[in-house]
Amino acid sequence: MFSVYCPRHGSDVLLTSRRIVGIDRTDDHLTVRWECWCGQRGSHATGRTRRSTPLV
Ligand SMILES: [Zn+2]
Repeated sequence: MFSVYCPRHGSDVLLTSRRIVGIDRTDDHLTVRWECWCGQRGSHATGRTRRSTPLV
C-alpha cells in the first residue's frame, strides 16, 4: 500500500496496488498513476534507489 495526496479528499489517502492504473518508468524514477477511491486520478513519483516508499 502507499499513500498519496488526493485533492478531492483534501488529505492523504492510503491506496492499494489495485488502485494503480499505470506505471511510467524513466531512468531513475517511477511515476505511479493512480485512481483514488473517490475517482480522482493523479500521479506519484517515487525513486527506485530509495526504499523509504516501497510499493506493496
Ligand atoms: Zn480521493
